[in-house]
Formats: sequence, structure tokens, C-alpha cells
Amino acid sequence: MRKGDRSWQTILIISVVISASSGCRQGSPTPQNVSTNQTANSQTPGTDAQVPEDKGDLRLRYQARKDTISATAHPVGSNPQALEKLISELNQRLILPFDMNVSFEDCQQPDAYYDPETHQVTLCYQLIDEYYDLFAKKIKDKAKLDDAVRAATAATFFHELGHGLVDAWKIPTTGREEDAVDQLSTLVLIERIDDGEQMALDGALSFKLYAGLDKGEKIFWDEHSLDEQRFFDTICLVYGHDEEKFAYLVENGTLPEERAAFCTEDYDKVSHAWRQLLGPYLKQPTEPRPKLKLR
Ligand SMILES: [Zn+2]
Repeated sequence: MRKGDRSWQTILIISVVISASSGCRQGSPTPQNVSTNQTANSQTPGTDAQVPEDKGDLRLRYQARKDTISATAHPVGSNPQALEKLISELNQRLILPFDMNVSFEDCQQPDAYYDPETHQVTLCYQLIDEYYDLFAKKIKDKAKLDDAVRAATAATFFHELGHGLVDAWKIPTTGREEDAVDQLSTLVLIERIDDGEQMALDGALSFKLYAGLDKGEKIFWDEHSLDEQRFFDTICLVYGHDEEKFAYLVENGTLPEERAAFCTEDYDKVSHAWRQLLGPYLKQPTEPRPKLKLR
């Protein structure tokens, strides 16, 4: 336990939608998955282990929407090339042992998940619709609403991609994998995406709004942290990344001082851990790459 740790009295509500209906990970890796990745298993990050072979790419696919009801007709709204560019950029950086589909499709319910059997990240249009409904309660300006939805969608995508990378290379995690890939998502937004800090904050807001929905029971046994915890964990990393720039989060009471005191240390630890763990599976760019614009 760290000095200053305390339980949050206000962490009370968890969203049925995210925690109960949202699969996130589906099933467990099959024995075949594991055996095909023994090269990865035998590697220790940071050693002179052989460079893993790049045998796959992310493959983006859209399913036509059955019900086109809003700006969610295209998952990235007014910037339809952004997602293709993002996937292309990721393929230039990631070493993968197999192809991984990234599929936007209609589902039975709002959901996003990674399936280790099919190696597919699925983002349901229904989840994007739900983000619109969720943020619309708080954000009246249409452009800002679109921005917030894109941010939450991007945060969810990087979270699910994190599950895919953990599966693909059997990346070790201690603690909850859900927390680890939340952290990865926030780091990618902060470090690789233009205006990504604000996108991470917008993504965090979705957790806060879900937590405020007075529907459903708290699910303490769920593999995800509670929504309010995910909110504070995310804004803590953003603040920890740049204390000066985001001092307002503490000044206006969004991030309690007791937690803020640890955020720089937390950010450094999490960033270091993911660099160590993912390092062997990243192609080194030949020249500095500008941050990607997603909205
Ligand atoms: Zn997850």
C-alpha cells in the first residue's frame, strides 16, 4: 500500500453496458494460439533475443450499417481517411505473428471486444451510437460532440488492440489485463496522436458518464475496474504526463490532490513498462514520425 492510498467513497456505480454486456475479451487463447507463439514466450524483453518475425498486419474492414441513423454512419465522421491512415501507420510500426482484423460492424448490443480465436478486434456501431447518446447529455455543440465520440471510440480501439497484442505476443501482465490495456490506450493517445491528451480526457469522460447512469448494479467481480476508477486512472496518466499543462485538473477538483501526488510516478512507471514489453515487437522508424491526426 502506498502512502496516501485510500478507498474512494464515491466509486459506487458501474455501467451495465460496459461491464456486463461488453465482452472486451472473448474466451481464452486456444492451445494452438499458445503453441504458435512459443517464439514470443521464450523472449525476454530487453535481452538480445532474436527479432520476432513479422507475419501479419492489421486488416481494416467495414460492414455496411443496417440502420444509418446519425453521424455514426462512418466511425470517424468527418475524417473518413483517418482510420485507414491510422491502420497503415500501425502496420508500419507493429510486428505481428498473424493478421488481425479490425472490424466495424453491427452487433446485437453496444460492445467492443478482441477475440483470440479469430484474432479480431470488433467495434460495434451500436457502441458508437451509445457514445453519442451518452455524450449528448453533456455536450450540446455538434462538433464537440463528434470530437468526444471519436475520442471515446479511439480509446476503445486502442484498448482492444492492447488485448490483441497481449494475446499475439503473450505479453505478461501483472494485475488486471483490463487495467494494463486501459493504460496502453491512454499512452498511445498521449504520445502518438495529435491532440491525444484531450482525446484521452474525453475518453475518460465516457467512464464518468457511464458511472453516473443510475442503472444496474455494481459488479465488483467484473474483470474491469469500476468506471469511476477507470476515469481517475486515465486522467491521472494525462496529468502525470504533463503536470504543468494539466494543473487545472487538480485546481478545479477533477483530480484529487491525494491521487495527483502519485501521477507523475505512475505515468513514468507505466510508460516504461509498456516500452519494455512492446519494444521487441515494434519496428524502428527510419525517421521521426509526426503525431497522427484522428479528428
Ligand atoms: Zn478489455
